[in-house]
Amino acid sequence: MSERDLVKSGFETRAVHAGYEPDPTTGAVIPPIYATSTYAQDGVGGLRGGYEYSRSGNPTRTALEETLAALEGGSHGFAFASGLAAEDTLVRALCRPGDHVVLPDDAYGGTFRLFDKVERAWGLEHSPAPVSDTDAIAAAIRPGRTKLVWLETPTNPMLTIGDIAAVARVAHDAGALLVVDNTFASSYLQQPLSLGADVVVHSTTKYAGGHSDVVGGALVVDDADLAERIGYHQNAIGGVAGPFDSWLVLRGLKTLALRMERHSDNAERVVEFLADHPGVTEVIYPGLPGHPGHEVAARQMRRFGGMVSFRVAGGEERALAICAATEVFTLGESLGGVESLIEHPGRMTHASVAGTDLEVPADLVRLSVGIETAEDLLADLGRALG
Ligand code: PLP
Repeated sequence: MSERDLVKSGFETRAVHAGYEPDPTTGAVIPPIYATSTYAQDGVGGLRGGYEYSRSGNPTRTALEETLAALEGGSHGFAFASGLAAEDTLVRALCRPGDHVVLPDDAYGGTFRLFDKVERAWGLEHSPAPVSDTDAIAAAIRPGRTKLVWLETPTNPMLTIGDIAAVARVAHDAGALLVVDNTFASSYLQQPLSLGADVVVHSTTKYAGGHSDVVGGALVVDDADLAERIGYHQNAIGGVAGPFDSWLVLRGLKTLALRMERHSDNAERVVEFLADHPGVTEVIYPGLPGHPGHEVAARQMRRFGGMVSFRVAGGEERALAICAATEVFTLGESLGGVESLIEHPGRMTHASVAGTDLEVPADLVRLSVGIETAEDLLADLGRALG
């Protein structure tokens, strides 16, 4: 497909065709895994395909990076060894010691730990602000010093919604850039660049990869200067995605739209079931009309995704017992794979924020609803909840 036709095509077409043309020699429709660290040169500096060393660039990674950009509606994508490697590279590229970042008050625990323990030691300050309160985010900005406003929406694990367009205006008015972690929604359900965000972050470990078989991260921008800075730091720091990992994420992205539709269908069924269950005190899902962020989510998301959190009567002990009792839902960290997962954020993914402003409720259970048969998921939860 020509570049022009591809840009104008639908999400699913871009997911299948972006980043790679069938190989002119063999006709292979899928990019090979270029397991090579270096590239032969025709005389000193005579690069055949623009590649010299695989930290700087690798054709399998290029195919992924171009696909990531095409799916987010950006000009440049960058693939990393993990979501946190992507985040750290972004910070080094765009901040300096003495700068300040506004962070969501229920960001993913690992993101908080990165800023609180690693970036702070480097001299970068951060302050938390409630994701859903644009005025509070504006108030947390330190004019002249705040370089980044960080939004995760929906957040992990409280599924709080931030208004991307409104926060973009607030950040830009103060001369800061807006970074949106789009991991929970995925590129299919939400397009932050089109709403004013400057940088999109993904843990491609999750919905992008989609099969729980790879750890990876991504950054996407739609600005040549930002791309230059990020590209320089990607190579200078070196936390890049390897060729096999790139290939796995690329394969996952081809079915992202189909998977997200099914994740959303199944999550809606699970939400309906939990909302009627007497042992459940609160169901947290942005698709519920009673969710405080529902209106904003309906405006900026195509559907509401596969993540569901709920609180149970009986406190932490009961929440832990439910997590241990399911059979179709596997007890485990991570999310966004084809299989359903259950976890206790307080003891598992978010243990690192215990005792901080970001601590999560002890009676909270988080589900990553997979693509299995909905009835099997409901029966499993029914058994576990009693
Ligand atoms: N952002 C979000 C929302 C996440 O859930 C995660 C991991 O769970 C990350 C970033 C970090 O990504 P990774 O684990 O690939 O480093």
